[in-house]
Amino acid sequence: MSLTSISAQTSQPDLIIGIVGLGLIGGCLAIDCKRLGYTVYGVARRPATTAVAVEQGMVDQSGCDLALMAKADLVFICTPMALIVPTVHQLVEHLPESTIVTDVGSVKGEVVAAATTAWPNFVGGHPMAGKAESGLAAAEAGLFRDRPYVVTPIETTKQVALDQVVAIATQLGSKIYTSTPAAHDRAVAAISHLPVMVSSSLLHTCLSESDFQVKVLAQQLASSGFCDTSRVGGGNPELGAMMAQFNRAALLQSLQQYRHQLDTVINLIDAEEWDVLKQRLTVAQQERPKYL
Ligand code: NAP
Repeated sequence: MSLTSISAQTSQPDLIIGIVGLGLIGGCLAIDCKRLGYTVYGVARRPATTAVAVEQGMVDQSGCDLALMAKADLVFICTPMALIVPTVHQLVEHLPESTIVTDVGSVKGEVVAAATTAWPNFVGGHPMAGKAESGLAAAEAGLFRDRPYVVTPIETTKQVALDQVVAIATQLGSKIYTSTPAAHDRAVAAISHLPVMVSSSLLHTCLSESDFQVKVLAQQLASSGFCDTSRVGGGNPELGAMMAQFNRAALLQSLQQYRHQLDTVINLIDAEEWDVLKQRLTVAQQERPKYL
């Protein structure tokens, strides 16, 4: 992925933004788009969510019927991953041809292909910002500021639609990156989805200690290093399972590469190749800042 050279068009002040799925990400988008001066319409599943969104001034109008999106110029789909493509299919019957549709899903491959087939004015996107909490109550202003926002155009993506999504993401304060959907999915498998599986496996390794006293002692001694390395593995199980389900191929590839790296370390320690092991650790130490 490289920092995009796409120039962000200046958005129209009278643009109407539609948001389907008023949870953490949809709510944060609504708050920021309102602050930017846009008119914002929101659709959620439960009437209680739509009522809160209107009461708190996050949206100008809200409801549970996708027909509300007919007035929007740009619609963000912010539903859970499994519902993005079905939502695009239901949504398109309400939209004029000019409406741009984008999504915020954490995995892009299959979504972008299917959504673009259903609606040629579709652009895949992924704002890479989040919190441990979910739902509208966790939404806050400025979540996307200084965070990456990846757009994933394919050959048939319309330039005007891409420019419009980039323009809004730029106004949110995000750093825009562009990549193919496949490259995006491989990159997030390596830096986001693999660490969850590795970190949870670390916890399982400790739990599998057969000597009860050693296991309890390890729990008592665990400190900041273990806190860092186990944090993502001890997070929301639904989110972790979702990553594996929707990014299965790229995650499996990353896990195979990781297993190969573990085998290399096992062999080096077994053969007492301390200099080679030290060289490996030195490379890791030198290269780590590039990921932070
Ligand atoms: P969330 O907080 O659980 O919110 C999901 C929202 O979708 C809920 O408010 C729910 O509405 C609504 N919803 C569910 N079914 C719906 C339907 N059929 N029609 C309309 N709305 C529906 O989830 P989230 O964390 O914001 O994640 C949403 C998307 O953002 C996902 O695709 C995820 O991959 C992506 N994403 C998440 C993060 C993250 O860190 N959380 C980061 C980047 C991207 P009700 O409240 O009415 O039930």
